[in-house]
Amino acid sequence: MIRRKTIKTEETESLKFVPLGGLEEVGRNCMFFEYQDEIVVIDAGLQFPEETTPGIDYIIPNVNYLQQNKNKVRALIITHGHYDHIGAIPYIIQKIGNPPIYAAPITAEIIKRRQEDFPNQPKLNVITTKHGDKIKLGQYFEVEFFDLDHTIPDTLGLILKTPAGNMVHVTDFRFDYDENEQPVGLPGYEKIGKLNIHTLLMESTSAWKEGRSLAERVVIETLEELFKAAQGRIIVGTFASMITRLGEIVKVAQKLKRKVFVSGFSMKTNLQIAQNLGYLKFEKGALLPIEELHKYKDDKVLIICTGAQGEPQATLMRVANGEHKYIKAKEGDTFVFSSSVIVGNEYAIQILKDNLTRQGAKVYQSMHMDIHASGHGPKEDMKLMLNAMRPRFFIPVHGFYFMRAANKENALECGLPKNNILLPDNGQVIEITPNSTRITDKNVDAYQVMVDGLGVGDVGEVVLRDRRILAEEGMLVLILTLDKEKGHLLKKPDIISRGFIYLKEQAGVVEEIRSKIRHLIERIPRHQHLDDDYVKSLLREQLGTFIYNKTHRRPMILPVVIEV
Ligand SMILES: [Zn+2]
Ligand SMILES: [Zn+2]
Repeated sequence: MIRRKTIKTEETESLKFVPLGGLEEVGRNCMFFEYQDEIVVIDAGLQFPEETTPGIDYIIPNVNYLQQNKNKVRALIITHGHYDHIGAIPYIIQKIGNPPIYAAPITAEIIKRRQEDFPNQPKLNVITTKHGDKIKLGQYFEVEFFDLDHTIPDTLGLILKTPAGNMVHVTDFRFDYDENEQPVGLPGYEKIGKLNIHTLLMESTSAWKEGRSLAERVVIETLEELFKAAQGRIIVGTFASMITRLGEIVKVAQKLKRKVFVSGFSMKTNLQIAQNLGYLKFEKGALLPIEELHKYKDDKVLIICTGAQGEPQATLMRVANGEHKYIKAKEGDTFVFSSSVIVGNEYAIQILKDNLTRQGAKVYQSMHMDIHASGHGPKEDMKLMLNAMRPRFFIPVHGFYFMRAANKENALECGLPKNNILLPDNGQVIEITPNSTRITDKNVDAYQVMVDGLGVGDVGEVVLRDRRILAEEGMLVLILTLDKEKGHLLKKPDIISRGFIYLKEQAGVVEEIRSKIRHLIERIPRHQHLDDDYVKSLLREQLGTFIYNKTHRRPMILPVVIEV
């Protein structure tokens, strides 16, 4: 009895940390700290769907726990403007009680613009923060922000001062290296390390890759060489979210006296935001609308566009397919793909490169040259940060288990004791006391929440399973007209197939299915009242096995029973 009581008091007084998403995947980053009646949430991102979830637009973090405790939520802190950190805000903000959102200027602007797409949502309370700001979030939490280098300006790390000690969160980042090969910003991180860091949370996306980040300076130099050598038009494909890179490309274009045309809605919006806030400064008339492209000579043109991942609707794919209104690929064009290949997109990108090359264009991609630096630091960057921060405990976050385990190795190499490095899964409750950080056996809901079109969370396992079957096996509709009284078939069953077999060429199979249906219906004892549901499940089961034996496929079987 006494022992129980001790655990109970310890529980209420310890700090809790719970990752809700981003630890068993790349994306839908969301986590929170809780102490007594106060909760601080960090990031609310989305994840793009995978092959196992056909027809799903996004996957968002599960906020059931936060919803139940929404009166405790004091703040939502957003580390930067990428969708895997901000994307779920419109879907969850009301559920968690519409708390104040703390974000740096560009991040804040992107959040507000996106919110405009959701007119029925409440007005957001966005508080703009920056490097060095110290903000009291409640009785127990105070946050201090610091700058991180990433592919979007205004990426913030945070020091969270709590009753258990100082927690530091290093979100997506990489080190940039100056002309003397020195990591930029290192002294600042070493200063934070002197604050006696209890637990460090740090991203792990590229923690398994060897080496250190490629300096953005080298990337730009390489791009400039490439641009100089181009005789005709230059078309650069990259991510709309890589605002820093976009700005540099425009600068190089100006230097080479080329006009810049931007194609892609998200690309235009982001450049505009960065320009309005003064992060990017261009000469007047440096950026021109794509409609005016034809007015300029080929060697005076540089086009920036989306679609370097082979996305079907983006500019590059439409250019390659000859479907773009203003840009047609031709001999003399130089295409540059300045972004890394996301796993799973290799094939689409290859097709894209083939199509462009067939039309006489030259295509360059990052794997051949230094024309892309990832936003996520590899091994040596991770170790630099670990050594600067010198935490007592370390929880690698952001990434699949494999990536986080690689970051554990990095920490071991930096001398952290094995038992002080934790690899929890989404939803696991971590308990932090002044002298410990440990994974408990408690969990909060963290299963995936799917967003499908405009609906949130209404796409269950059953729907997904159906979509998978439809995609892989097709479907078979059986229409039976039965005599209500006697229970026998009044006419030949109609059979409709979609994505299963081509009926006209499979007359034999179709006839076999028909006679099987007849046989099944006749076997039902006459005295038994004909029950629709019974007939349907009988057909599904029996025909399912029969069809599998014949064709080795399992289409979805949809019996329709009409009684007359
Ligand atoms: Zn990011
Ligand atoms: Zn991220």
